[in-house]
Amino acid sequence: MTTITPARTAYETVIGLEVHAQLLTRSKMFCGCATAFGAEPNTQVCPICLGMPGVLPVVNKRAVEFAVRLGLAVHATIAASSRFARKNYFYPDLPKGYQISQYELPICEGGWLDIAREATIERHARPEGAPKRIRLTRAHLEEDAGKNLHDVGDGASHVDLNRAGTPLLEIVSEPDLRSADEAVAYLKALRELVVYLGICDGNMEEGSFRCDANVSIRPAGSETLNTRVELKNINSFRYVKRAIEYEVERQIGVVEDGGRIVQETRLFDPQRGVSVTMRSKEAAHDYRYFPEPDLVPIAAPAAWIAEIRAALPELPEAKRARFAADHGLSAYDATVLTGSRALADYFEATLRHGAPPKTAANWIMGELLALLNAEGAEIDTCRVTPKSLAALFALIDAGTISGKIAKTVFEEMYRTGAEADAVVAARGLTQVSDAGELAAVIDQVIADSPKELAQYRAGKDKLFGHFVGQVMKRTQGKANPAKVNELLKARLAP
Ligand SMILES: [Zn+2]
Repeated sequence: MTTITPARTAYETVIGLEVHAQLLTRSKMFCGCATAFGAEPNTQVCPICLGMPGVLPVVNKRAVEFAVRLGLAVHATIAASSRFARKNYFYPDLPKGYQISQYELPICEGGWLDIAREATIERHARPEGAPKRIRLTRAHLEEDAGKNLHDVGDGASHVDLNRAGTPLLEIVSEPDLRSADEAVAYLKALRELVVYLGICDGNMEEGSFRCDANVSIRPAGSETLNTRVELKNINSFRYVKRAIEYEVERQIGVVEDGGRIVQETRLFDPQRGVSVTMRSKEAAHDYRYFPEPDLVPIAAPAAWIAEIRAALPELPEAKRARFAADHGLSAYDATVLTGSRALADYFEATLRHGAPPKTAANWIMGELLALLNAEGAEIDTCRVTPKSLAALFALIDAGTISGKIAKTVFEEMYRTGAEADAVVAARGLTQVSDAGELAAVIDQVIADSPKELAQYRAGKDKLFGHFVGQVMKRTQGKANPAKVNELLKARLAP
């Protein structure tokens, strides 16, 4: 018997992301005010970023350099001449009544970013096979707005302009992403890249790396781009996934009910897990863009761009390939160990102190990352230096301690920052390899296990493990396992 299922349209999700990365310059985009986070409200301001009449902006060269760095890293075209434009709109946190951004002539055009294939993302497996290429539309420089503060307890709303004028790089992707998981993979790859490049701290909680997602759906197989909805200011990977998944379901619901998707901007509420309409989406012409008359176009000399290219750090992809080739690591190990520049540097420093690559990789990815993750700490603050870790491996290698005891030693090193040999000496953890000492323990164990001894002699070979276990237990794990095996075999031989 065949079951007939009613035809249900299969939908394909289409997503493009606009990421705002706050650039790690010391001063703002067009004035000398500090960009540091967390200062008292309105203490990092001047007539320029307050939007006073008659003042003139001056472009921050470092911000332009950072934009070029990103552009080169994503294979974009760096514009020979790019221009700033005024984006006009009113909001209390924008005293000038316009934001200086870039419109027709952005600093970077085109380029791409590779992400792991969706199949591997879904299985949460190691990245394998050819990556998926996500095309970039552009990356442009602009200034951030201030911040409105509500609910501070006095019933009034306030405006903090410390953030006004902070340099941002807006990185816009083509609508090449096909699921919430791909969007998250793209964001992670982009965040990793800007942190590697040293142009953004990637801190999503403080808003220095945030994204807007443009989401639409279409029948599977269709090539049309349907009306999209913009999800605004999402500031964590988890919320990006939830917000997009919610939006896709919402749009399918609307279409299945015979409705029409309206172009709008929606805000995701992580507490309730739903998004709400914020405003109907403006079109570009609503902003009345026009060239910023107070700034000349940026003409970045080819020699300067070449200089920036030459100074680019090794990027994640290249580092992964080198780790696999030079240190003989698997693709998975190379990916984990290049997860951040600091972690990769730590690993390589351990090798410079003589650690074998595979041992170092296993310990860093296993013991070390487990302890760091447990307290949400970063490698930079780790009390075990690469040199101390290499010294611990040397103790295992020399047979001074067993691999099992090494874990105990490592935990103490991690907690206190003590050196491996000091921990071993203070706690008497040196491995016992002395034949006389071990033979005494073995004799005791055999004397205490007459039943097991009889069964073993009768042919139950598996019981050998019982004797080894007992010896290890009575020596608190300090007995040299290889030596115990050797001595026991001789002692139990008929
Ligand atoms: Zn200022």
